[in-house]
Amino acid sequence: MRIIPTEDEAAAIRGRVLDFCRETIPATVHGLERQGTMSDGDSGAFFKALGCAGWIGRHWPQEYGGRGATHLETAIIDEALGYARAPLSAYLLSVKVFGNSLLLFGTEAQKSKYLPMIAAGDAMFCQGFSEPMAGSDFGSLRTTAVRAGDEYVVNGHKIWTSSAEVATHMYLAARTDPTVVKHRGISLFVLDMKTPGVTVNSFATLGGGVLNEVFLSDVRIPAENLLGEENRGFHQAMRSLDLERSCMDRVGAARLSLDRLVEYVGRNGSDRGYGRLSDVPMVREKIGELRAKLQVARSFGYMIARNVDAGKGVSAEFSFGKLYVGLLTQALADATVDIVGPLAQFEHGSDLAILDGLFPAVFRASPALTLAGGSSEIQRGVIATRGLGLPR
Ligand SMILES: Cc1cc2nc3c(=O)[nH]c(=O)nc-3n(C[C@H](O)[C@H](O)[C@H](O)COP(=O)(O)OP(=O)(O)OC[C@H]3O[C@@H](n4cnc5c(N)ncnc54)[C@H](O)[C@@H]3O)c2cc1C
Repeated sequence: MRIIPTEDEAAAIRGRVLDFCRETIPATVHGLERQGTMSDGDSGAFFKALGCAGWIGRHWPQEYGGRGATHLETAIIDEALGYARAPLSAYLLSVKVFGNSLLLFGTEAQKSKYLPMIAAGDAMFCQGFSEPMAGSDFGSLRTTAVRAGDEYVVNGHKIWTSSAEVATHMYLAARTDPTVVKHRGISLFVLDMKTPGVTVNSFATLGGGVLNEVFLSDVRIPAENLLGEENRGFHQAMRSLDLERSCMDRVGAARLSLDRLVEYVGRNGSDRGYGRLSDVPMVREKIGELRAKLQVARSFGYMIARNVDAGKGVSAEFSFGKLYVGLLTQALADATVDIVGPLAQFEHGSDLAILDGLFPAVFRASPALTLAGGSSEIQRGVIATRGLGLPR
């Protein structure tokens, strides 16, 4: 039976994760790179350390390398990791996107093989869903996987692939039947990134760190690496995307930004003769409003985790949570720039940077949170259709 942590136990877990992060996050990871959801060269090393310390996939069954913990416990860990600004790209894709999906539709052999490797920090997954002409419209993807004996031969081009530069494996979506309507003929696979024919090109992003495009040229995947049913990949992928949208790490990151902003306005003066920034009524009101919204996001995130533990369907709730936290992070980043003023633009490494360049880092990373994992417009659509039953 899964044991729900008490308040004291939750506080102890948070404290242990924060201590672990303080000791483990490499000194080389600063400023813009430390955006949690961004890819960066250090997320691989951090992921391995996280696995060795036993923090990965604790809600998975023990036979697959987990601890049989609740989703609530994982939500507490995720929030603490976000608060610590840990480099989380590899963790989020390996656990939330791939690992949790494998539990839903992987074979026994696949679960026994990959989940313990992930839990130990030895296998890192990237997600090869998006393509140049298939982002929101995932069903339009063009990468093909053609069955040839006991293999599939894959050709195509993926883009925006976070962590592909460090990943050991890709959670890949490809078209296996071009003759049926576009949502039908898609299948999901595990691809070993060392397979001949895989080329990764990294490029810098506005938010710091890198993203990648991945070219697949006559890549041969063993047929046993098919995940779930052939040609049912679209429906399976939608469930994976739901899982990706749980967002307690982002709640943690937003909480850190707001805590630092509150400290800053309490210590520093306004340039308009009002005394401290916190004495300016509009500043206080804005911060109060952001705090209220953050509390809503946090409570909602924990409610989703409790519902998942209780076995309740939460598809539209994941979209609500993601939409809300993405918009909240942008509002927080905008308000910080308005309140702090020109000093908010000096980045890590500048003599004028405040808080190691935290504020510009959050500002530059915030637009991505309304895109990665499905844009805000798409989340609104999911809430309207799957959540409220409106026609598609
Ligand atoms: C930081 C970051 C990391 C990412 N990591 C990954 C990853 O690891 N793996 C991966 O596969 N993908 C990844 N993505 C891609 C992400 O999933 C896509 O960017 C997203 O799904 C949007 O697709 P698109 O970029 O092709 O934009 P488009 O789909 O072309 O959308 C462009 C704009 O049109 C709007 N729009 C599109 N369709 C509709 C509609 N039906 N109704 C209303 N508005 C609509 C969108 O909301 C958006 O504002 C990442 C993206 C970012 C920014």
